[in-house]
Amino acid sequence: MTNSQNTRVIVVGAGPVGMVCALALNRRGIPVTVLESEPAPVMDQRAATLHPSTLEMLDELGIAERIQPHALISSTYCFHDRPTGTVVAEFDLGRLKDEIKFPYVLQYEQYKLTAAIAEVYGNESDFDVRFSHTVESVDQTANGVEVQYSSPAGTEYMTAPYVIGCDGGRSTVRKAADIEFEGFTYPERFIKIATGFDFKTVNSTLSLRNYFSDPNEWANLFKVRGETPEGLWRVILPIANGEDDATALSAERVEERLQKFFPKAGAYPVEYVNVYGVNQRVAASFRQGRVLLAGDSAHVNNPIGGMGMNGGIHDAINLAGKLTEVIGGATESLLDLYSRQRRHAAVNYVQAQTMANKRLLEERDPEVRQSNFDELRRTAENFDSARAYMRRAALFDSLEDAASIS
Ligand SMILES: Cc1cc2nc3c(=O)[nH]c(=O)nc-3n(C[C@H](O)[C@H](O)[C@H](O)COP(=O)(O)OP(=O)(O)OC[C@H]3O[C@@H](n4cnc5c(N)ncnc54)[C@H](O)[C@@H]3O)c2cc1C
Repeated sequence: MTNSQNTRVIVVGAGPVGMVCALALNRRGIPVTVLESEPAPVMDQRAATLHPSTLEMLDELGIAERIQPHALISSTYCFHDRPTGTVVAEFDLGRLKDEIKFPYVLQYEQYKLTAAIAEVYGNESDFDVRFSHTVESVDQTANGVEVQYSSPAGTEYMTAPYVIGCDGGRSTVRKAADIEFEGFTYPERFIKIATGFDFKTVNSTLSLRNYFSDPNEWANLFKVRGETPEGLWRVILPIANGEDDATALSAERVEERLQKFFPKAGAYPVEYVNVYGVNQRVAASFRQGRVLLAGDSAHVNNPIGGMGMNGGIHDAINLAGKLTEVIGGATESLLDLYSRQRRHAAVNYVQAQTMANKRLLEERDPEVRQSNFDELRRTAENFDSARAYMRRAALFDSLEDAASIS
């Protein structure tokens, strides 16, 4: 590496993956400019679970210790049979305390992670985060990439040896590089409702992370810290086909859903509600010359299991290591290896597991449901099978398997 002009990498998108990627490059001595279309850090209420494998990576970047005091710590997660109100199985990451550094997840909203990184490192030289900068086109030349963006100053251009698209599922960078986004969209959407009502006071079997199987209406229930010491519970439910967004988001319908989920006296206090379209898609390649993809720009999945952002952060760390080597003179084929390894992890672990999670929760056949429950119970009871299950769900297996690809 010679001077910062030649090595500065452009990261498009200041979401959790873009910010972690920028931080990981910056820690390795690579100057970065992050271009973000929003005028300020977004209070994105999507991801909230950081798995143990991801915490190890954030720890290496020096950020895990900073965020932990502001997060909820959750070692257990629970599968419930919603119609009968019984617990099917509980998994406890604490059982892995002798083999993993963080035997728990942190419930920590993604907007807090991006804000924490910006706050701690954003003012350091060579970590340049620019809001209100919307990337419009990306063109590769023989020696680099030219990015056109609009900012309050008008239309401008910037060149860099490499550009990383961390600009989400509708990625402009991916489209500019003409990379296919293969997969499908589910017919139904999901609704997420956050309430200050404390479900734990009325159901002592709850963990901070709960999955409810129900042939008519599955549910997820998670606790997050929110902005108050009491925290919030988030309920995620499918929206039936035919119900439009306006109806789904109406106060009456939200109240009706919550009362059906858990009937109680008085109305629920609702903090926020969002509707999401749900896709399972993976980019055909995570590299096109000097353009790289990471995070949702490269893969999207349903949120059951909390894997999208975690897998994206794993992309970011893998890519930052290899790109640093390439900028330092190593062969560019390392970037193809990045694409192969992380695409393998996305397809065989994140996609496979999240689709299986959804099938498990929505299964309608009574015999199949029963046999699923029996298997989950057996898995949770035996140490070796519970360990294998938890390591897979925490994405450790995906990392080990991807690392074995050459
Ligand atoms: C209900 C729900 C719950 C979820 N829970 C979890 C969870 O618990 N754990 C988990 O791992 N995942 C979860 N996910 C998935 C997770 O939210 C995403 O995987 C994650 O946000 C991806 O991060 P990202 O940085 O790749 O993209 P994004 O968070 O989408 O960030 C992309 C950024 O790029 C910016 N941008 C877009 N276009 C441009 C442009 N042209 N120029 C400049 N900037 C641009 C955007 O403004 C945005 O800030 C959940 C998703 C949903 C819907």
